[in-house]
Amino acid sequence: MYDYVIVGAGSAGCVLANRLSEDPDVSVLLLEAGGPDTNDLVHLPAAFSALYRTAQDWDHSTIYEPYANDRRIYLPRGKVLGGSSSINAMVYIRGNSLDYDEWGPGWTWDEMLPYFKLSEDNERGEDHYHGAGGPLAVSEGRSRNPLAQAFIDSAIGRGLPANEDFNGAEQDGIGWYQVTHRNGARASAAVAYLHPVMDRPNLTVETHVHALSLLFEDGRAVGVVGMRLSEMLVHRAEREVIVCGGTYNSPQLLMLSGLGRPEELEELQIEVVAELPEVGLNLHDHPNSGAVYAIDEEISLFGALNEENLALFEAEGRGPLTSNVAEAGGFIRTRDGLEAPDIQFHFAPARFQSEGLVPGDGHGFALGACALQPKSRGFVALGSPDPTAKPLIVHNYLEHPDDVASMIAGVRTSLEICESGPLGELSTGMLIGPESHSDEDILAHVRARVQTLYHPVGTCRMGDDPGAVVDRQLRVQGVEGLRVVDASVMPTVPRGNTNGPVIALAERAADLIRGRTPLASQQAELPAASSPAPAG
Ligand SMILES: Cc1cc2nc3c(=O)[nH]c(=O)nc-3n(C[C@H](O)[C@H](O)[C@H](O)COP(=O)(O)OP(=O)(O)OC[C@H]3O[C@@H](n4cnc5c(N)ncnc54)[C@H](O)[C@@H]3O)c2cc1C
Repeated sequence: MYDYVIVGAGSAGCVLANRLSEDPDVSVLLLEAGGPDTNDLVHLPAAFSALYRTAQDWDHSTIYEPYANDRRIYLPRGKVLGGSSSINAMVYIRGNSLDYDEWGPGWTWDEMLPYFKLSEDNERGEDHYHGAGGPLAVSEGRSRNPLAQAFIDSAIGRGLPANEDFNGAEQDGIGWYQVTHRNGARASAAVAYLHPVMDRPNLTVETHVHALSLLFEDGRAVGVVGMRLSEMLVHRAEREVIVCGGTYNSPQLLMLSGLGRPEELEELQIEVVAELPEVGLNLHDHPNSGAVYAIDEEISLFGALNEENLALFEAEGRGPLTSNVAEAGGFIRTRDGLEAPDIQFHFAPARFQSEGLVPGDGHGFALGACALQPKSRGFVALGSPDPTAKPLIVHNYLEHPDDVASMIAGVRTSLEICESGPLGELSTGMLIGPESHSDEDILAHVRARVQTLYHPVGTCRMGDDPGAVVDRQLRVQGVEGLRVVDASVMPTVPRGNTNGPVIALAERAADLIRGRTPLASQQAELPAASSPAPAG
């Protein structure tokens, strides 16, 4: 019997395991379906896509995408301590202040900024926007490839503004990304939050335990049924069960446990515990597409995984293997009248192609554009009552005309950047991309090549309305003793990468669970300090 049982040691689960076990009188059990993060590739930044379709990856995919030529799109998700933060591209972005204001009371920018700062250990030090001394290392990339510099120069040459801090006063502009690294190595949520506290006597971490269903007694969640190999395990929770399985797996676990649409559950002979009409709905993500170019100069990351660079990485935490691949990028507005950017760029000094599943076979670079405020919505559903079967996922990428318009304009700008200035001079020709810059050709290319930018959210949506899966305290509606804390509760995806936002969300959730006054309210009690306007 534990006070809290947490399902999933990903970005959110690691934060909660740390913060809840700060109280020595509270016992915490963290269950993770994957194994420990002992694979060296987890910690070697440039190798992140080498983890795709390995034991560290759930290897999900969409069943088909009706607006993307009926393709199955690959959806990697971390299955290891640290979850997706152990296999991600490590770009540290918070999004736009408007994103949080749209989430509403409790989660507005002013309420979230203190949690971003609490989590952060920014190499640049502390200021109005940034924290220092928190668990999550945020650093400058140590490998600044000349191709990424050429991208920045070409973009600025085309009139886009430079931006040295996308998480500061302005989000718009082009520049280097800060990354979640410490000493050149990946700072996953496990590295940041879990490993430093693994020896706490009140924290138990169990790996290779797949949670199959939640246990209810009289409408209250009292435990988790799990499986390790063929052994069935029951772990009971005195206070709460907290589901942190991520956007695809959390709704799956809820539905397997009888929380969902009764007619669908009954069809699969799953006993209904509570009617929750929107579990698994509202799935959305940043669709991403772009182009890949060849170069003659041997300066890209092709061939970087060699003994010399490995030795440099191991001895000094330096060299090309510290590259997070998506080294640079930026944010633009593709049309007048937008309140905030609608496109984000990720530049890779490598031939990042075929959803990252096929290594580039020569020197080159890739530039992707993703739509930041997608209006297309998909779903996660059960195809089977077998808890080890994969859920059915449809994203409906590019269903909404506004997403299509942003993508066409964003990809066109990315082509213009790649084909002009210093980057254009380095390029010896396009390898993958649209046949021309016309709307029709760009759209045909985008539908044929669109991939995930790995930021799915929304399937256990937070809100005040009866359809919301969790309330503003992230408590699952209709039952007691159960919360969901992960990317799935985000009602809308922030305009940017989602690891930092999930970690800040979990920091705030930890205070809610512990019944502590949220940081913004604590600070409001202090005398007001003069400060610049929030990011946006
Ligand atoms: C390839 C890739 C690249 C990305 N790049 C970036 C980036 O550069 N910057 C950025 O900010 N974000 C990036 N992201 C997104 C970011 O990493 C995620 O949004 C974030 O990690 C999600 O956190 P989470 O806690 O919701 O889920 P996860 O971190 O995925 O955690 C879920 C955990 O639950 C476990 N679990 C699931 N089901 C069960 C079960 N039934 N029983 C037991 N355990 C279970 C999983 O194994 C996993 O450990 C990327 C993601 C991927 C996959």
